Amino acid sequence: MAKAFLDKHGVPYESIDVGEDTGAAKKMIELSGQRGVPVIVVDEEVIVGFDSQRLNNLFGETVQGEIYDVLIVGAGPAGLTAGVYCARKMLNTVIISENIGGQALESWAIENYMGYRMISGEDLMKKFEEQIRTLTIHLELDRVVSIFKENDIFIIRTISEKTLKAKSLILAQGNRPKKLGIANEEQYLGRGLSICSTCDGPLYKEKRVAVVGGGNSALQTAVEMSEIAQSVHLIVRNRIRADAVYLKMLESRENIQVLVNTQITALHGDKFLSAITIRNENGEERNLDLDGIFIEIGWLPNTDILDGFVSLNEKKEISIDINCHTSVEGVFAAGDVSAVKSKQIIIAAGDGAKAALEAHEYLLKSFIQ
Ligand SMILES: Cc1cc2nc3c(=O)[nH]c(=O)nc-3n(C[C@H](O)[C@H](O)[C@H](O)COP(=O)(O)OP(=O)(O)OC[C@H]3O[C@@H](n4cnc5c(N)ncnc54)[C@H](O)[C@@H]3O)c2cc1C
Repeated sequence: MAKAFLDKHGVPYESIDVGEDTGAAKKMIELSGQRGVPVIVVDEEVIVGFDSQRLNNLFGETVQGEIYDVLIVGAGPAGLTAGVYCARKMLNTVIISENIGGQALESWAIENYMGYRMISGEDLMKKFEEQIRTLTIHLELDRVVSIFKENDIFIIRTISEKTLKAKSLILAQGNRPKKLGIANEEQYLGRGLSICSTCDGPLYKEKRVAVVGGGNSALQTAVEMSEIAQSVHLIVRNRIRADAVYLKMLESRENIQVLVNTQITALHGDKFLSAITIRNENGEERNLDLDGIFIEIGWLPNTDILDGFVSLNEKKEISIDINCHTSVEGVFAAGDVSAVKSKQIIIAAGDGAKAALEAHEYLLKSFIQ
């Protein structure tokens, strides 16, 4: 994301892989006071994480007041596919997203996207991005903070204080990880607590880690971390609910210890996380010394920005009909943010295509006489 942003704005940079270079990793931790990536150093300024607001303030350009045909929120599989379909219909389209690739970037082995027997999420999303970059489409790395309608036009505000206008919207902003809900969680984020093993995993080489969760993502992360870390505790609140393929992989790893009916009740450490307290089903507590934990306990739809704008279901997902129409005319939704039950890349991409075709039809009907 950081590299794509700097490339797009023509900013020269040096990129250092702290997963490979342990000296650089140490320096990065000293400089930023935490372990999460990326860390971007601009002159004397140290930016932790992909902070689109600060980067836009430093390097961004102002978007002109044109009215786009379609504005797509999110550049995961759903948003990028919608973008391809919009561009091919010659619609003046802009995608606003905090990153390019979405959650798929976090999967190290995708075995169910047609056309590839196995591909990493990063490689698959690079291919999506390559395809979109061959087309005429605007792609802005930014965060949408509010959406409203004025007459027939949708107004979108971003965190870097830009205002964009569009005749139709495709909402494809996906999901975000759930939190543990215990004290000090924010304090240790990037300081031993991670929500992205693909991003932060290499920094825990030969360390003791725990993975929290009992679903496919948690098991996938535990297996992945067992190849990097010295030991892995898999902490499952109730029982494991994962596909047989992941259970088989889990059983084959000797350095993974599974603790079911167990939950984390406290996080400990000075600057960095160094131990956790866990409680079993009998209410017995004990401390576990470790260097990091990876949280994989599920996802919440990114619908906070909508605030009464479209109808949501009881899970706060956007309600859609079979053709991706939301409760507001001219607004379509696709992918994990929608009420569609199965959250998968191929389904998000398929619905992205449907949403774009519906947006095209809406524009023909409503704006072209
Ligand atoms: C670890 C892991 C492994 C997985 N493995 C598989 C697999 O093997 N096969 C499979 O089919 N699926 C897999 N999935 C699920 C798959 O990744 C998702 O179903 C898919 O990415 C959903 O696509 P999407 O475009 O709907 O949303 P997302 O991928 O969530 O993309 C949403 C985009 O919107 C952006 N965004 C969010 N809020 C805002 C905002 N306010 N403003 C601007 N932009 C915003 C995000 O930055 C992101 O770019 C996996 C997921 C994870 C986490």
